Amino acid sequence: MTKGRRVRAAPAIDQDVTTSVLRLVWKRRRVSRAEIARRTGRSPSTISDAVARLLDAGLFEERGSGRSRGGRRPILIGFRDDAGVILGVDLGATHLSVILMDLHGAELAWRERPHPVRTDPVGAGKLVVELCRECLVEWMGDPRLLLGVGVAVPSPVDPDSPDRVLDRIHPAWRGGAILDRIDAALGAPVFVENDANLGAVAERWWGEAVGIDDFVYLKVSTGVGAGIMIGGEIYRGATGVAGEIGHLAIDPGGPECICGNRGCLTTFVGARHLLDRARTLSAHYPESSLAGDRFDIHAIEDAALAGDPLALRIVNEAAERLGTVIAGMLNLLNPGSVIIGGSLARAGDRLIDPLRRVVANRTLVASAAASDIRTSDLGKRATALGAATHVLVAALENPRLFPGVGSSH
Ligand SMILES: [Zn+2]
Repeated sequence: MTKGRRVRAAPAIDQDVTTSVLRLVWKRRRVSRAEIARRTGRSPSTISDAVARLLDAGLFEERGSGRSRGGRRPILIGFRDDAGVILGVDLGATHLSVILMDLHGAELAWRERPHPVRTDPVGAGKLVVELCRECLVEWMGDPRLLLGVGVAVPSPVDPDSPDRVLDRIHPAWRGGAILDRIDAALGAPVFVENDANLGAVAERWWGEAVGIDDFVYLKVSTGVGAGIMIGGEIYRGATGVAGEIGHLAIDPGGPECICGNRGCLTTFVGARHLLDRARTLSAHYPESSLAGDRFDIHAIEDAALAGDPLALRIVNEAAERLGTVIAGMLNLLNPGSVIIGGSLARAGDRLIDPLRRVVANRTLVASAAASDIRTSDLGKRATALGAATHVLVAALENPRLFPGVGSSH
């Protein structure tokens, strides 16, 4: 991948300098060598060497000239967002989706399919590879520029053995090395992370939480999960299980949950419960658009947005349960923002307004007043986008993941 514009004795790469130069140029978009030196506190010659290496690797390009401070106008260095691509995979419970993004979060291709991911891991693995390949074909670029594949899973992730963590929630996945298969088929490293954590990553990089260091992202879909961002970092807890708020027991005698316990939050606000509830109540709402039992969760959200009384009752009940749990979370963590994502976020203000009321009634005044509760704007692509961004974050921490920066120098 090196373009070899000059012959040089291979110097030992100062990984720290490379990393800080890379991150700075990625963030500032156009910056002179002098400013990089100033901002990193390194000598101009050290910076010149690092910039030359990253120009050689094809990650930087010279991008016009800046304002002069007396002498020659300095040449500006820019980050090439097209120097690599990243795949992000969202393995939901009943669907999967794939995004191909450039190095600045722009979508290059997108695919989604319904699939019984929980019960058919082998088929899901094959479908993931197929959709990833379709995205790469649509993009028409050099597949060697693929940095990696981020995979979002709806379960906690043990960083030491990401393939095994699905056992409890996804029994059919036991022993199935689906992630190895993706790696082997696409020839790029695979990074696995919990879906709610990745929703939080997407919000922090591209969404509602840009510039916010302390917030909680709540994904409310088939299940419920929380991505907790503290000081700009995902909080994983001692063994990676932090944020499994969907299995917080809110009624010990409540319905049985997928995890084997009873009365978890998911059994009250998860998509399946909302559907069951709407079907049970529909006899009392003959005027509702949710007649019969042939509707899905999106139909409930659409009906709520249209002011349908049955749908509003369902969303209100969910808001009541969620608000109670969020109030507890605010008192516990005092985040600056709570961002609601997942499919239920489509209900927008119909969900947020009653939820804010419940939260206000249940929180200590200071933490409630200071917390901003809103829905995500990233829509159904949030998790896949977060999965791809997770790989970008890793590469900006470890530039060797970029094509052309590795051992060839
Ligand atoms: Zn549970």
